[in-house]
Amino acid sequence: MKADLLSMFPEELSELCIELGQPKYRGMQIFEGLYKGARDINDFTALPKAFRERLEENAFIPCARIKRKLVSAIDGTVKYLYELHDGETVESVFMRYHHGNTMCISTQVGCRMGCAFCASTKAGLVRSLYPSEMLLQILECERDLGERVSNIVLMGMGEPLDNYDNVMKFLRLVNHERGLNIGLRHISLSTCGLVDKIDKLADEGLPVTLSISLHAPNDEIRRQTMPIANKWSIEQLLGACRRYTDKTGRRISFEYALISGVNDSKEQAHELGRLLSGMLCHVNLIPVNPIKEKNFKRSEKNAIKVFTETVETYKINVTVRRRLGADINASCGQLRQADSEN
Ligand code: SAH
Repeated sequence: MKADLLSMFPEELSELCIELGQPKYRGMQIFEGLYKGARDINDFTALPKAFRERLEENAFIPCARIKRKLVSAIDGTVKYLYELHDGETVESVFMRYHHGNTMCISTQVGCRMGCAFCASTKAGLVRSLYPSEMLLQILECERDLGERVSNIVLMGMGEPLDNYDNVMKFLRLVNHERGLNIGLRHISLSTCGLVDKIDKLADEGLPVTLSISLHAPNDEIRRQTMPIANKWSIEQLLGACRRYTDKTGRRISFEYALISGVNDSKEQAHELGRLLSGMLCHVNLIPVNPIKEKNFKRSEKNAIKVFTETVETYKINVTVRRRLGADINASCGQLRQADSEN
């Protein structure tokens, strides 16, 4: 199998160069060339031609071609549909916040977690992405817009912890000082709650922000919308969150999609408050975004207000997520493969 150059660290590239009879420093040359925009082995014009030919036989650079690009007329949010080397497609979203440009990237083509409210999982999992394919979502967007990305959220299609090794490598690559050099503290990893993997992540020594898609104040309601809740209870999930905080010192962010009549009553807000009270955490309320397969309804304005204020009485920090890119279906849970009609 050919080596995927963009998924490799400088040291790994050096090893490959040595194997192919070249000096070690060529590894860093290739690494830096990739982040400067090389997308074809012949773009490395500083490398001897004979070496490029040998490299061509042994390695390749994956691609993410912009197949469609939608720009929101409301807030300038940009949604990309990228086509990968095998014709599969993934979506990414570029958002401008006052704290910097944020890119929401996908980690898998499709998803096998099966959450009832989410569009990304409707056709199941097609395949996981390589580290390079996660990097390309950022690199191609930066090149297209001529702007830098400073924050990343792993909140696009896919379950990051279900593609564990590739996501870990991506995090280390994107943080590399000779590459994009994006701080790990500026990266959020969101999971529906794979408890064993959260524990593994806590031992990686990567200070990313952990976001938990909670979406319910108890197991019974959670099981109605999230199949993963049949595998692990909320108690087990919160246990892993506490261990994560103990080991990393980082506060947990809980995502809670408010669905009218399902999980948005005042009583349920109290239940959520009691559940999280005393934890080093932040609650992010997301009025659910409608998808065509399900008629989940967004909570009423007043219900959102009451819910927020009720949770706040437990001294928990709560924000209601702003909805960016509403006119281009760029919001949470609306990303899907190319066959959609948006
Ligand atoms: N698989 C990971 C990463 C996806 S992130 C996870 O589950 O966390 C996408 C976020 O949007 C998750 O919090 C997800 O639960 C949420 N989401 C999915 N569908 C949604 C919808 N229709 N409305 C609002 N949020 C949704």
